[in-house]
Amino acid sequence: MAVAKVITDVSLDRGFDYLIPAELEGKIAVGMMVKVPFGRSFRDGYVLDLRETSDFKGQLKLVIGIAETRAHIPPDLVKLGRWMADYYCAGCEQAIRTLLPAAVRSGRVKPKLRKLYRVSDTATAQSYVACNSPKPSAAAKVEIVKCLLNGGELPADELKKRTAVFSQSGLNTLIRNHIIAAEDKQVRRDVFGDSTVMPGKPLTPTPDQAAALKLIYEMLDHKTKQHTLLLHGVTNSGKTEVYLQAIARALELGGSAIVLVPEISLTPQTVRRFRSRFGDRLSVLHSRLTDGERFDEWNRINSGEVSIAVGARSALFAPFRNLKLIIVDEEHESSYKQSEAPRYNARDVAVMRGMIEGACVILGSATPSAESLYNANSGKFLLARMASQVDDKLPPRITIYDKRRDPPPEPGKSSLFAPPLIEAVRDRMRRGEQSILFLNRRGFARVMVCEACAFEARCPDCSVPYTYSKVRGTLCCHLCGGVIPAYTECPQCGSDKIRYSGSGTEKIEAMASAAFHPARIARMDSDTMRSAADYETVLNRFRRGELDILIGTQMIAKGLHFPNVTLVGIINADQGLMMEDFRASERTFQLITQVIGRAGRGDIRGEVILQTMNPENVAIKYAATLDFDGFSAYDLEFRQMLGYPPFSHLIAVFFRGENEAAVAAYASETADQLRRYAHEGVTVAGPLPAPIERIKGKFRYLVTIRGNGLKLIREALRVIALHRTPPDGVDMYADVDALSLQ
Ligand code: ADP
Ligand code: ZN
Ligand code: ZN
Repeated sequence: MAVAKVITDVSLDRGFDYLIPAELEGKIAVGMMVKVPFGRSFRDGYVLDLRETSDFKGQLKLVIGIAETRAHIPPDLVKLGRWMADYYCAGCEQAIRTLLPAAVRSGRVKPKLRKLYRVSDTATAQSYVACNSPKPSAAAKVEIVKCLLNGGELPADELKKRTAVFSQSGLNTLIRNHIIAAEDKQVRRDVFGDSTVMPGKPLTPTPDQAAALKLIYEMLDHKTKQHTLLLHGVTNSGKTEVYLQAIARALELGGSAIVLVPEISLTPQTVRRFRSRFGDRLSVLHSRLTDGERFDEWNRINSGEVSIAVGARSALFAPFRNLKLIIVDEEHESSYKQSEAPRYNARDVAVMRGMIEGACVILGSATPSAESLYNANSGKFLLARMASQVDDKLPPRITIYDKRRDPPPEPGKSSLFAPPLIEAVRDRMRRGEQSILFLNRRGFARVMVCEACAFEARCPDCSVPYTYSKVRGTLCCHLCGGVIPAYTECPQCGSDKIRYSGSGTEKIEAMASAAFHPARIARMDSDTMRSAADYETVLNRFRRGELDILIGTQMIAKGLHFPNVTLVGIINADQGLMMEDFRASERTFQLITQVIGRAGRGDIRGEVILQTMNPENVAIKYAATLDFDGFSAYDLEFRQMLGYPPFSHLIAVFFRGENEAAVAAYASETADQLRRYAHEGVTVAGPLPAPIERIKGKFRYLVTIRGNGLKLIREALRVIALHRTPPDGVDMYADVDALSLQ
């Protein structure tokens, strides 16, 4: 008898062996959900593996049956899930669970059924109409039958619309008399609604695009040894058009394709472009789908009804069985990293899925990550560059404004906007053009300080200052969500000399109203944008020219295309530089470059004014001169010197708990154990208090592992993290290839 290794939701990281009974022999495949006895009850679980024999010494139990109504996972995806569990030190069950949307996994969402009506048979229906037409009492029934004689199968609401007189009881009578038949049919919950999109044709590639496509076609034809290509193209160089044509080729070859975009750039604009090229062969997976819609889309992909899935991070697990191409747009984006277990990076898992399934991967970006550049430079990835904009447009004119030169502000006035920026915005208003003012809330949150005793209002549970909101009169913590009323007097000394320092978007908006009166201004940040509809409303007003100035955070840095925006003001380019993190300059460079890309997308050349306290900073200098190569040469050298990724791998191990001594002791004990597996070239550092020492009342300690060839130590870590119970009140987790050490 063959043996199936099955993992259930209660077994966490361990699969258990079960015998496959004769009647199921040959019917069970890897990835199927089966019912098995577990302890004294029964459980549903996924088949991880099939074998001839088991190492288990005791008596094996039998698989009870295949779960008929539940989703099965393609075997290749199971392989990917097991790799994720190993690589990211996550529980196997948890990794497998990530492969399926909750709506599909739970088995609770059912296909949507609708009652459809049709005539039982045409002859009967016709004679019914002939016999009853003269009778006034049968008028409604005759209408219904006539309508269905023309219309095939219709739902009740459609029947109602199409008949002049409609009667539900008449319809019921017709069904009782077998003149009309009713049947439940599965219908799709349509994510696109009624909207239609004009079909579009491929554009003739520019020379840069043609060169990139040539490489991609060779890769798709397996004429290259690499299966991943880095598409490094400046904003507006036509990357999306390359994606569209690459997908078209993958479909011609009989395959399917996945396109990953950061959630924030999954805008209707983007979706429209894909739909216009591929119409109904496209499935869009975003976070606002209902469970029912998600269930339907998953099944459409699983059954091969569609060939392309566009979506955020988790769309990577779309259950295609003939995958040919995965595209990861904006591959440098940190949102591809999941912040809960399994802490995977969808970009890296995409490359692995490509390898397992023989599919090609395109990583696209205007500012590729150091990791991907390194892989391209070392020949692991192919590289295509697109250095000029499609229409050979001039890049915006960029000036750096050194904020240190500012005279101290006059009392009651703020120097938030430099004089040249104020002049430039007014100039745009006179000409009927639009401006974007960018800032990052985190670097600017307003904090409450007492001028008498220097007390600073901080969250008692997290080691960060509270952020003040004037509109709500509250202090709130962005880490734990705690909110308290703002103090009117200092809780420490009782003084009323309370000052708010820093400037959040809220304050910037008020100051912009004063500085640019009578400008029409809107603000976009996570406070004002509560729903997707808010977001669309503001963007539409901006697009229609009903606003002069749009103020916002990261939310407006990405992907937006507004031809009438000719000025971008970066209020403070320095945010993020202060963080003690080796990726700080990379992030700053990427963000500034992205924001610069919002200026001058129409016919008029754009202008960017970049205010900074650090004009000498390399990230800022290189971003302002649009010198990606200059920046990356510097950044890579710096990382190589210090042995940071991509020249090494980095694992962050976090320990948390309310009792600081217990947390520190367990962290220290674990670090010592790990050091035993740290061979030559691997360092285990710490434990040290994490940069944010407390969150939600829990102390945090950090151990970092750095080096090459971390397989051994990762295995040890995995065992400790998953199979050992830490002391009471302490927990630990590992973040492999951590993007942030906060
Ligand atoms: P990116 O994704 O690199 O920012 P896009 O693919 O969005 O660039 O292209 C920018 C603009 O140029 C779009 O409006 C697109 O329709 C247009 N475009 C792209 N490729 C071509 C081409 N080969 N010929 C003409 N227009 C193009
Ligand atoms: Zn005080
Ligand atoms: Zn807090």
